Amino acid sequence: MFKNKNCLVYGMSISGEWASKLLVKYKANVFLFDDDEDKLKTKPIKTCYVLRELNENLICQFDYIILSPSIEKDNKFVQIAKKNNIPILSEVELASKFCKRLVAITGTNGKTTTVELVTSMLKKRYKAIACGNIGYPLSRAVLENKKQICVCEVSSFMLENCNTFSPHVATILNIEPDHLVRHKTMEEYTKLKYNIFKNLTPRDYAVINLDNGICPTLDTLKITYSLTKNADIYLHSNSIFLHQEKIVNLNEIKLKGKHNLYNIMCAIAYAYIYRIKPADMRDAIINFTGDKFRIENVGNVRGINFVNDSKSTNIASTLASVESIKGSIILLLGGSDKKLDFSKLFSKLPKRVKQIFAYGEIADDIISKNTKFNIQKCENLNEAFDEATKISLTNDTILLSPATASYDQYKNYIERGIAFNNLVSEYEKKQTR
Ligand code: ADP
Repeated sequence: MFKNKNCLVYGMSISGEWASKLLVKYKANVFLFDDDEDKLKTKPIKTCYVLRELNENLICQFDYIILSPSIEKDNKFVQIAKKNNIPILSEVELASKFCKRLVAITGTNGKTTTVELVTSMLKKRYKAIACGNIGYPLSRAVLENKKQICVCEVSSFMLENCNTFSPHVATILNIEPDHLVRHKTMEEYTKLKYNIFKNLTPRDYAVINLDNGICPTLDTLKITYSLTKNADIYLHSNSIFLHQEKIVNLNEIKLKGKHNLYNIMCAIAYAYIYRIKPADMRDAIINFTGDKFRIENVGNVRGINFVNDSKSTNIASTLASVESIKGSIILLLGGSDKKLDFSKLFSKLPKRVKQIFAYGEIADDIISKNTKFNIQKCENLNEAFDEATKISLTNDTILLSPATASYDQYKNYIERGIAFNNLVSEYEKKQTR
């Protein structure tokens, strides 16, 4: 399909780099462009042509455009290409054309956790790899091993130009307000998420959480899960069941919180479709401790618990993490502005949150939406941390669950998470001196 075709890879992020490698393998003529010239300095492969500039005429010469998820749909070149009917593909859509065994997971929260859990269950019987939005592009997974099952995390940005993306199993874990600066409305965001189901055939599976109202109307096979309703996967006498079979007792699960029960049930559905034995599902679940910076216990100093949930970048994920922690909480909240409505956080936060420290670019906005919690403004995370430790008592939890992005003060959530861990270590050292 791409042999001898002129393909423009627009956006030289990691996914652009691997998309170009994939296209070269399939003998396309590959051209690279990025608005940021620096990104073109290290050309991924010798046989690609680097464009120093792009213009209206040039863009119309390409047979295909592979677009980085970071490029928005109102980008001027994207608009011109669309007007001229030049096919635009996202990197996952391109890679999916070469992927024989593909399952996909999207949702506002829980994608990485669920992708990793599904992968560890599938590995009990097959070669499987977690890929996509987790930092290991699908193009790379496809290039490095054709036979494995690719368990692909898909973001809403990736679903923007995804007309033929067709996994064998797909799910939307949940849809909550997020990424509205990019997608503008919840309707648009929801529509993009539903793209994951668009090309499922009657032989493919949609995995559906009956508790959140997300359900494709397409004619596909369906596996359902629920904490309260009749479903294929359900809760009964403190255990998760798949049909009549007990998979795991809740006491054996290391992941915290109701939201993680949903992630686990969803993963069981994928494993069931691939005929993984219940004992192997259980084994994967009980050995899964979760990823770094996701409700991660990072220490207990003089009776105070420190929990790092730096990956929480919206209100729903912060509510989920607060719900998963027992006892009184001192919450560190803040970062850059994503235009989220913080009144929704305050209307649902439990009273156990005895104090909030709001920091960063969004601090004033957060404080203006609060009506009932003790809240104090801080410049940055360091100050918020110091203030939190001053007022903390035995059995309190100091929770970093910022509910927004980190870009005002950090490169990403990982850098923010590391900063919090360093603060905990320094604090611990001071206490033991
Ligand atoms: P994603 O990849 O979608 O960002 P992660 O698995 O990395 O999701 O989890 C990110 C954060 O979202 C975690 O810190 C946790 O607090 C929260 N979270 C995880 N799963 C869910 C869920 N099913 N519902 C709500 N919040 C969740």
